[in-house]
Amino acid sequence: MKEQARQARAENRIIGLVPTMGALHRGHLSLIERGRRECSPVIASIFVNPKQFGPNEDFSKYPRTFDRDSKILEQAGVDSVFAPEPSEIYPNGFSTYVQVEGLSERLEGRSRPGHFRGVTTVVMKLLQIIQPNFAYFGRKDAQQARIITQMARDLNLDSEIVVSPIVREPDGLALSSRNAYLSAEERKAAPVLYRALDAAKSELAAGVRDALQLQTSLRRKLDSEPLARVDYAEVVDAETFEPVMRVSKPCYVLLAVFIGKTRLIDNLYLEPKSPDSDELVFHF
Ligand code: AMP
Repeated sequence: MKEQARQARAENRIIGLVPTMGALHRGHLSLIERGRRECSPVIASIFVNPKQFGPNEDFSKYPRTFDRDSKILEQAGVDSVFAPEPSEIYPNGFSTYVQVEGLSERLEGRSRPGHFRGVTTVVMKLLQIIQPNFAYFGRKDAQQARIITQMARDLNLDSEIVVSPIVREPDGLALSSRNAYLSAEERKAAPVLYRALDAAKSELAAGVRDALQLQTSLRRKLDSEPLARVDYAEVVDAETFEPVMRVSKPCYVLLAVFIGKTRLIDNLYLEPKSPDSDELVFHF
């Protein structure tokens, strides 16, 4: 992979990287399509990274559909697929980790200790191996995208981190490889995350700016679904991911909710239309 990337750089080509854990869906494809508009070659990686799963998480049962994924990537016009084995990425004696402090400890980091350290370590390695001009990430994992952007800035990486919109099912459910875990009944319940965010969006559009009020109505909506158990439902500053009292600058409304045993995340991004405007623009 390094040799191939080196060759592309020598030819002054613009390299795009789309890191994934496989079990590909239209969310991943949207990143690849964007990559193809902006880069050539586009390289997709498939690596179910053991270091970002906690001991009681779903590493062993995470869906692995390599043959199907390879066909999808070929049809999508990806130039190369990088699918290393865990033993290649973490050979015996591996002992160097990348950790973005502060941002990695909140929200997802609090619920999943060590998760972001695993993510930043593997993404750093992928960026180091391929040295892409652009690396594409989904806003579905908003905190992850923010942390990787911070890492790229802090470590003077030459790769630009591009964050792309969330792709959803027609009923609003954000696409996720983990949706495959949902039973038919759970699948019907899962769009409650989207509906809760959509209700928050309506309240914000109607002028509500108090974070506690928004959180209360999010909880009420989510609690009305018997199969849902809320892990967190928060309104945070889009830079620091610290809770806000009032919405007055770019913010995320972030949800992590168990539907049965499956933990789903989703979010709504909002920012003032212009610096002194009270009107908000939503990215959903
Ligand atoms: P994963 O394979 O789950 O690690 O995801 C690989 C990349 O795809 C990450 O940057 C995710 O944020 C992104 N992604 C996952 N689901 C979606 C979605 N529904 N819409 C947009 N991007 C997504």
